[in-house]
Amino acid sequence: MRGNPDAVIVGSGPNGLAAAVTLAAAGLNVQVIEGAPEIGGGCRTQELTLPGFRHDVCSAAHPLALASSFFQRFDLAARGVRFARPPVEFANPLDGGRAAVVTRSVAETAARLGADGRSYRWLLGPMARHVDDICAELLQPLRRPPAHPLVMAGYGSRGILPASVLVRRWHTDEARAIMGGAAAHCMMRLTAVPTGGIGLMLMVLAHGVGWPVIEGGSARITDAMADAVRTAGGSIETGRWVRSLSELPSNAAILLDVSPRGLAELGGDRLPGGYRAALGRYRYNPGVCKVDFALSGPVPWANEDCRRAGTLHLGGTFEEMARAEAEVAAGKHPEDPYVLVVQPGVADPSRAPAGRDTLWTYTHVPAGSDVDVTGRIEAQVERFAPGFRDLILARAVRTAAGEEAHNPNYVGGDIAVGMQTMWQTVFRPTVQWNPYRTPIRGVYLCSSATPPVPGVHGRCGELAALTALRDMFGIRNPPDISPASLRPAAGVPTTS
Ligand SMILES: Cc1cc2nc3c(=O)[nH]c(=O)nc-3n(C[C@H](O)[C@H](O)[C@H](O)COP(=O)(O)OP(=O)(O)OC[C@H]3O[C@@H](n4cnc5c(N)ncnc54)[C@H](O)[C@@H]3O)c2cc1C
Repeated sequence: MRGNPDAVIVGSGPNGLAAAVTLAAAGLNVQVIEGAPEIGGGCRTQELTLPGFRHDVCSAAHPLALASSFFQRFDLAARGVRFARPPVEFANPLDGGRAAVVTRSVAETAARLGADGRSYRWLLGPMARHVDDICAELLQPLRRPPAHPLVMAGYGSRGILPASVLVRRWHTDEARAIMGGAAAHCMMRLTAVPTGGIGLMLMVLAHGVGWPVIEGGSARITDAMADAVRTAGGSIETGRWVRSLSELPSNAAILLDVSPRGLAELGGDRLPGGYRAALGRYRYNPGVCKVDFALSGPVPWANEDCRRAGTLHLGGTFEEMARAEAEVAAGKHPEDPYVLVVQPGVADPSRAPAGRDTLWTYTHVPAGSDVDVTGRIEAQVERFAPGFRDLILARAVRTAAGEEAHNPNYVGGDIAVGMQTMWQTVFRPTVQWNPYRTPIRGVYLCSSATPPVPGVHGRCGELAALTALRDMFGIRNPPDISPASLRPAAGVPTTS
């Protein structure tokens, strides 16, 4: 690193690195400090089970990275990151060998939905055609008048509803399961607002951009951003947990890729009591228990289409998934849980030795749970893929408590770092016009506890960095983050 840093970023998750890329592209001297032994936070890949089996430690499916304007401008493709596309975006297996199957094509998906096909096409078709406009609106803070009011009126008038209401228009198990499986990602009761909006957003993404995995693993996204930061002269230090803001230079911009709880701890008495109290009221989700499998071959799903799906939602019908999520919200471990599954091998054979496979799964559990629910996850897979258990070569389990132990951002195992209630979707983490500023001058929050939404898209980090550039360095125009521009900086602006 060249001399004293102009900006220090604490945490190297996708948002921390997106902030670092943006600041480095503006010519700043940036320093990233990561507590864990390796960079990447929720975007890493490791041999968790056996040699040669590469598992995504956290994020695995990347519709948001594909839709993100940050990653489009950063140009992942030009940096060697390839999206690997499964033939089926996601599927919900049902008993009796049936399945709800979502492909890129709205018409093809609708054609499998019998009596609900027409209504599905009517709802999803126009939104999928306007996916770019919808993503542009949803991947920014929802506080300004929309630039595409008509498109957003169509989305918002449905998205404001709970999934349990939105799904009433459909009568087939298949159509209802599609909505249930997508909406349950948000870890809330499916009777809550805005579970319908989140389900709808994920369905629109499936049709509009797809749900790819990353060839070679999600860590490739992290590596591309880290390379760009280093190329621009920035430094990245690992294995150093920051415990207090007093450990950081006082004349640099500080961007924190931490949870609201982490911000309160780091800021301590320097934060006004009212703001600390507001951070303390921030609501977290239940946790997740994640199990990765090394398999001797692909999962033998009873339904053929499920064998071609990148992502699967297990749990059965909408009612079954809604019941499981309600039990988790009530602090219970469901006997028949909703299970999220990614089989990257469908699109990316490089994840396992020839003929072998990996499977990524997690389920929702009460916050802070240290219960290992591997048995229940395996039972759900076996229900729709008899013979699955015979293929298991090795497993790696991380309970909700274990998630938090590895990454303090995941409070109680909440991988979204905060509930997406309507209130917390708009006012995240507290009620403030600019959610990235903190009451301490020069200190910003840039994690997924800020708008727009959780996930790997980099927009929280980028928007926080743009605020810091305006406030601290008088730089108003977003810097060019394309591969052509990010090169060793010639000059460093002076901190005001
Ligand atoms: C199991 C799991 C599955 C997921 N699946 C998907 C998916 O398929 N698709 C998707 O888009 N998203 C997924 N996500 C969510 C996604 O990973 C997160 O939304 C995203 O990583 C958030 O990025 P971030 O930079 O805000 O925080 P994080 O990625 O959590 O990074 C924060 C970093 O800051 C470090 N840190 C925190 N405090 C300190 C400190 N005091 N000092 C030093 N370092 C510190 C942490 O160690 C961590 O590396 C998943 C997450 C998990 C855990």
